[in-house]
Amino acid sequence: MNEEFIMPLYWNAPYQTEVIAKITVVRKNELQFNQTLFYPGGGGQLSDTGSIVYLEEEFPIIETYKDKEGIWHKLDIKKNIDFQENQDVLLRLDWSKRYSYMKPHTAQHLLSHLFHKINDCDTEKANFEELKIDIELSKNLAVDEILNVVSEANRIIEQGVEVKSIIVNQEEYRKDYLGRTRGKKSEEEFVRLIELGGEEGFDLVCCGGIHVKNLAEIRGVFLESKKDHTLKFLVNQKGLLFATEQRGLMLKLEDITAKKGEKLLEIVENKIKENQILQDNSVNLLRLIFHNIHAFSKKINEYSITSFTLPEIDRLPIQSAAKELESNNFVAVHGRNDILYLISTNEKLPANKIAKTLIEEIGTKGGGNKGFAQLSIKNVKEPLQLVEEIISSL
Ligand SMILES: [Zn+2]
Repeated sequence: MNEEFIMPLYWNAPYQTEVIAKITVVRKNELQFNQTLFYPGGGGQLSDTGSIVYLEEEFPIIETYKDKEGIWHKLDIKKNIDFQENQDVLLRLDWSKRYSYMKPHTAQHLLSHLFHKINDCDTEKANFEELKIDIELSKNLAVDEILNVVSEANRIIEQGVEVKSIIVNQEEYRKDYLGRTRGKKSEEEFVRLIELGGEEGFDLVCCGGIHVKNLAEIRGVFLESKKDHTLKFLVNQKGLLFATEQRGLMLKLEDITAKKGEKLLEIVENKIKENQILQDNSVNLLRLIFHNIHAFSKKINEYSITSFTLPEIDRLPIQSAAKELESNNFVAVHGRNDILYLISTNEKLPANKIAKTLIEEIGTKGGGNKGFAQLSIKNVKEPLQLVEEIISSL
């Protein structure tokens, strides 16, 4: 390796919490050293923090970051200190914070490996907080598929698997490692690789981050939430606390519903089904109305207008039934939660234009397009009459 390359201590000694270093560059309240323990952030996580002991006085390091010139340590200093280059200092890491980033970061390697292997699904983005992981996947997986990966991850964590750090130059990387690397390729002169598994490594990626040396240290992974492609996980005691809380909540719900012994999930699923049937029925009813709209409509000027109140109806069934509406009609529906829906098949009465006039008149929120618009009509008296007045004044 060449002389200019200074191996960061967080690469080959991630458990070291203190080191004597020499100040090499001073720039206001930011310092560089000949070596550092501090991870400068990046890869979806914040930088390390800690402190510096300079001439027997301790100052907090509140942020670390890397630019073209090197790794800068930003100090929180109240008075003017004349930091001298070449002076030896003690660097001290906030270990508890660091360790609570090492665990989720390493857990993410394992989860991403499993999603790739089991579900043929890539990790597009990952972000970290203390004992927390956010992963954005390349596709939307079913909850059962995710839980399957979580239990496989926990089985491997329980086994205890070595996490190996490998540092090679670009030439060695291309020759010996590139072919079996998952994810992004590295163009760096010196490449840092992380391999899960001892003798027979099973996952290899390029990564300059911070890792535990054995997966057992993670203790456990828990799924916290799922929204489309984005999953949130918790590890270690944060996960255990969460799992206990959630189970407690379920038990309380079972108490409230007095459905002990029955599976709550089954009850909820049945409720959803019932709801679906009601929804389907209301769509059918609306279709019938929209299909025979002439029986309900009246003439205002030359326009054919229909207005009615359906307090249990919301947007989806209305939009779905609106396809039945024949041309040259205008319909206003006062639906659930005091939302007014305007549906138009008449070029001369664009729904969004009428909505805009109403919004200006009553000072509310809403919008839409020529065919369909909606707005809030909370506390508005006789909203349907108002619509008719607006149209008759055109
Ligand atoms: Zn990593």
